[in-house]
Amino acid sequence: MPATADQVLITDVLLRDGLQNEPVVVPTTDKLRLAYGLLNAGLTSLEVGSFVHPEKVPQMADTGLLMERLRPGESVSLHALVLNERGARRAVEAGVRDVRLTVSASDGHSLANAGVPRDAALARLDPAVELLTAAGARLEATIATAFICPFDGGTDPATVVEVARRLAAFGIRVLHLADTIGAAGPLHIRRTVAAVREALPDLPLGLHLHNTYGMAPANVWEALRLGVRRFDAALGGIGGCPFAPGAAGNLGTDDLVNLCHHAGIATGIDVGRLTAVREELRILLGHRLDSALSAVSAAPLPLGLAAATADMTG
Ligand code: ZN
Repeated sequence: MPATADQVLITDVLLRDGLQNEPVVVPTTDKLRLAYGLLNAGLTSLEVGSFVHPEKVPQMADTGLLMERLRPGESVSLHALVLNERGARRAVEAGVRDVRLTVSASDGHSLANAGVPRDAALARLDPAVELLTAAGARLEATIATAFICPFDGGTDPATVVEVARRLAAFGIRVLHLADTIGAAGPLHIRRTVAAVREALPDLPLGLHLHNTYGMAPANVWEALRLGVRRFDAALGGIGGCPFAPGAAGNLGTDDLVNLCHHAGIATGIDVGRLTAVREELRILLGHRLDSALSAVSAAPLPLGLAAATADMTG
C-alpha cells in the first residue's frame, strides 16, 4: 500500500535489523515462515537481509537464498542492504529488485560498520550503483547515525544534507534517516527532517527508529506531524546494530501499527494476524520481546478503541 496523507507505509526490518543482532542464526526456513506471516498480516514492504561479509554478520549469509525463495508478487517490496560493489554484485546475482544503499553520516560509525570513513564509504557506492542501475534495481538509501553517533556524538544536520545530496544523485526513490542507537528526540527529528527537506524537497523521506530511551513513539508522532509517512520497524521491537554500542531494539512494528490506528492513520495491517506472527517469533527466539504490546498481548483493547481500530485496518 502506498504512503499517503492518511496512511503510512511500514517496512518491517525484523529479518535484517532484528535478526542480525540475535546470538543465534535463524534457519532460512524459519525466516521464510516469518516473512510470509508478515506478508499475510498485510505488510507490503520487508527488509529481508543485507549483502555484507558473511563472516562479519553470519546471520545475513542466506540473504541471496531468501531473495530467491521469496516470490511475493509485484505489489510487495523486498529490500536488501548493500554497502559496496561486492554486495551489489551478489544482489544482482540473486535477482534483487529493491536495494537500500546504506552509509553512515558519521566517520566513527562508518569505520565500525563499513571499515572506512564516510567519504570512502560513499565512494564505494559509485561502482555499486553502476551495477545495480544497469540491472534495473530500484534504489532507496538509508543514512545511519543521522541524528547521533555512539562514537562521534551529535550529527550536524548540514552533514546529513551533504550525504543526502550524494545519495540523491544516485537516483534513489526514498531516503531513510536512521536513529541507529535510538538516542534522538523530537527536536532532532524536526531539525534534521527540515534541513533535508529544504535541500531536497522532492525526495520522499522515511524514518528508521530505535527505542533505546523509549522515545521512538514520540519521534513517530513528531514525524507524522511533519508529514512523514514512511517508517521502518521490527516486529516485537527486537534488533540493534552489532557495530553500534548501546543500541537497543527497533521501534516495534506492532507498537507502530497500534499508534497509527489510534491516530486514525491506516496501515493496511491486520493486528490479529500480526500478533500471531509475533508469538511465533517469541517461541522461535526463546526470549521475551521488547515491544510494549508484546507484554500485554493477552489484554483486550478498551471497548470503542477496538472497534475504531478494526475500522481503520481495512
Ligand atoms: Zn536499525
